[in-house]
Amino acid sequence: MLDVNGGTPTDVREAAESRDFIREIVAADVAAGNHGGKVITRFPPEPNGYLHIGHAKAICLDFGVAGEFGGHCNLRFDDTNPVKEDVEYVDSIKDDVEWLGFHWHDREYYASDYYEQLYGFAERLIQKGLSYVDSLSADAMREHRGTLTEPGIDSPYRTRSVDENLDLFRRMRAAEFPDGAHVLRAKIDMRSPNITMRDPVLYRIRHADHHRTGRTWCIYPMYDFAHPLSDAIEGVTHSLCTLEYVDHRPLYDWAIAHCETPSTPRQYEFARLNLNYTIMSKRKLLQLVEQKHVNGWDDPRLPTISGLRRRGFTPESIRDFCARVGVAKKENVIDVGLLEHCVREDLNRRVPRAMAVLRPLKLVLTNYPDGQVDELDMVNHPDDPSAGTRRVPFSREIYIERDDFMLDPPKKFFRLAPGREVRLRNAYLVTCTHAIRNEAGEVVELRGTYDPATRGGDAPDGRKVKATLHWVSAQHAADAEVRLYERLFTVEDPEGAATKANAELATLLNPASLAVLQGCKVEAMLGRPAAGARYQFERLGYFAADPDSRDGAPVFNRTVSLKDTWARVASRE
Ligand code: ATP
Ligand code: MG
Repeated sequence: MLDVNGGTPTDVREAAESRDFIREIVAADVAAGNHGGKVITRFPPEPNGYLHIGHAKAICLDFGVAGEFGGHCNLRFDDTNPVKEDVEYVDSIKDDVEWLGFHWHDREYYASDYYEQLYGFAERLIQKGLSYVDSLSADAMREHRGTLTEPGIDSPYRTRSVDENLDLFRRMRAAEFPDGAHVLRAKIDMRSPNITMRDPVLYRIRHADHHRTGRTWCIYPMYDFAHPLSDAIEGVTHSLCTLEYVDHRPLYDWAIAHCETPSTPRQYEFARLNLNYTIMSKRKLLQLVEQKHVNGWDDPRLPTISGLRRRGFTPESIRDFCARVGVAKKENVIDVGLLEHCVREDLNRRVPRAMAVLRPLKLVLTNYPDGQVDELDMVNHPDDPSAGTRRVPFSREIYIERDDFMLDPPKKFFRLAPGREVRLRNAYLVTCTHAIRNEAGEVVELRGTYDPATRGGDAPDGRKVKATLHWVSAQHAADAEVRLYERLFTVEDPEGAATKANAELATLLNPASLAVLQGCKVEAMLGRPAAGARYQFERLGYFAADPDSRDGAPVFNRTVSLKDTWARVASRE
């Protein structure tokens, strides 16, 4: 298929092979020659926050569909609310879309670029008697609107003449009125069973600085007005959005039908992505950031794209996740375990192995010659010979993981204990001879011996050991800080639980969501990791170098542990 969008990642294409209902619709339109056979989509974020994994689903769909059908996808900023928007968000959105692997080329648009055109559409509606300036207070307007069971009632201003409406609307634009004095409303039907159609507001007065238009405007179009018309101005054919817009579709079509637009886009709705143990509302994410419950929008515990990136997720794993989640019409909640499964699978395939000891305990091998260093060959990837090998130094003093040793082990503990022999991965069999304790009785160091005949980790006499431990050479190791993450919330549905208990979301935060470990010992090559470098630390999980890393003082984030709960559950089903 022709692909003028600069390429759609193949995983997204593969997902499309089992066609979802959106792709069925688009394929049928293309086959029927609707919209001149063209497919133009848009991804329309409001720059009032950072993108999250839910947006990734929309991005994969918008760019994916366009790419597969030889069309293109516009990146359009829906910047119609100056109070909440900011260039910081515009920039982060662009970074995130690009990082996910999608390209909008020169098709970067802003609803604010259309303000003059949108204003023109609004005046035309007034002239046609299809909209009017209302001067009810916000409260009164709410009362007039009615409820799901009661029809609304007409505003007393609904019968204003075209001339009066035009005059007032022009004076609204000319900054003659304060915020809230008037609004422009569509004249549709206050008795419509669909509340959205009860004379929706099209324009409101907002004396505020807009991040792009400054003070040029003091009236701003509402999303429901700006969105369909921006689509039409850009020649968008399929305007894909989430299910909460189903009720807005009649208004979308109304705007297109009455504004004499240059094209006729159509809106289609799909189920938004919901993930357990997290939240996806930008407003609530902003709260967590502002109240400093997390360390910024890119905190690795957040479901933001920038948070996932910092945590070590790959764009491929996120696209794979979106493809597996699919596009459906029914809301559901996806287990965050699936997201972790996707990144684990991707990283397992791609990243080199390394050794790191998070909670070091020193083991001195008393029969190992002082000053001697063994250079041991280790494969960088067990399944990928092209990843090559590296030399890892072994010496008399080794760090092992504190929880790989027990003074008085229970039956099921097979790792190191006094008198017990274990394998140090790819190195030697070692036996612990005794533990040195401090005054408090805590183990502070181990003494042991190694068997020189077991270089590489196997005994020539074939004797077996029950455990293989990771390790680093004390004299060669670099110090590192390692950050471990758990779920941000303690409950599966934080928003639901907070509402039910009438509690602040913050009370449901998991106090153990971040553990910072200092003084971790890592292989020397990890002392100066490349920005964002990813590794599997043997037996511990997948880790990525954090931007807080300084030369010789690396910081690693655990992306995900090795334990795949999702795969286990899925295989049992
Ligand atoms: P807001 O409440 O601020 O409108 P939003 O998450 O809808 O929040 P937008 O910037 O309007 O933010 O979203 C841009 C696009 O991403 C929209 O088309 C929206 O439908 C889609 N989107 C947002 N959240 C999700 C989600 N959880 N799953 C799938 N798509 C989503
Ligand atoms: Mg929205």
